[in-house]
Amino acid sequence: MKDISIEVTEVSKHFKSTLALDEVSFGVKRASILGLLGPNGAGKTTMIRILTTLIKPDKGHVNIDGYDVVKDGGKIRKIIGLAGQYAAVDDYLTGKENLKLVGGLYHLSSKEAEARAVELLKRFDLQDAASRTVKTYSGGMRRRLDLAASLVNRPNILLLDEPTTGLDPRSRINLWQSIKNLVKTGTTVLLTTQYLEEADNLCDDLVVLGDGKTIAKGTPDELKASVGGDLVEFTLSDIKRMDETLNLFKSNLSLTPKCDAETGQISVALELNKSLGDVVRALDERQILVTGFTMRRPSLDEVFLSLTSISELNTKEGK
Ligand code: ADP
Ligand code: MG
Repeated sequence: MKDISIEVTEVSKHFKSTLALDEVSFGVKRASILGLLGPNGAGKTTMIRILTTLIKPDKGHVNIDGYDVVKDGGKIRKIIGLAGQYAAVDDYLTGKENLKLVGGLYHLSSKEAEARAVELLKRFDLQDAASRTVKTYSGGMRRRLDLAASLVNRPNILLLDEPTTGLDPRSRINLWQSIKNLVKTGTTVLLTTQYLEEADNLCDDLVVLGDGKTIAKGTPDELKASVGGDLVEFTLSDIKRMDETLNLFKSNLSLTPKCDAETGQISVALELNKSLGDVVRALDERQILVTGFTMRRPSLDEVFLSLTSISELNTKEGK
């Protein structure tokens, strides 16, 4: 088991009457990617601001590589890198000038800052654009430059607030690859995202936030498994047998399928003690013919919808 690089313990934060974070706890393993997932207003940016020492928690503790975010702010700012949704680069400077400027902020000599800028421009495939002003850059190029800027001080820990929001799919996949490469060389990454596909592709572990509360935690696979079993899907060859099939599932298997009466498609989640074999046998005994028979794990989107509707239910019942 890998050791923990970022340890968040029961962190709460309120803004006037809004409880932006409510006793949130999680750990980020060294050289792994943890995704904070949640809709707008869930509390993701508030957590990033606490981790980067921009604001203090009301309650709880955050420890990053042995330093406390409240007591050791200066140390923490030296070991982290931050890149955000709103790229913090200057439009009127060139890509290289931006990186050299950041180098200066970290007290690199002009020669060191130049060397670091050249190295990072190459790493993020921006050499050709190095001496163009940033206002001529595409969205994807800006994000890569922003990520490069966050790496000037060689941080072991990288905090990314919605790094790919607003990017086209190709730029998004490129940025994922850059982030994965950083983790391979030992960097620990905590990123926020609203995209389930991103969480699934990129993150080793996930923490799902909703209204400041932790709704769920685990690996993408664990979250998928927690919501229910695999989904079995098929299409009836004879659409007239829809009612009969649905009744069969309910009475003989105690399963409640979803169906599309127009196409004859049926989708049923296998619950604990039911197997694919049970479904096949039941259909076979009645000689119900089907096509396109498949079994799959639920997607993270389905997991997320199910988790957020469960949490809405809990809040309503709690009232
Ligand atoms: P996310 O990044 O997940 O969209 P935020 O952390 O930005 O969510 O916000 C969480 C909640 O806290 C929201 O209800 C937001 O309106 C509120 N909030 C965040 N920052 C402030 C602030 N500086 N002042 C007042 N309310 C804030
Ligand atoms: Mg945010």
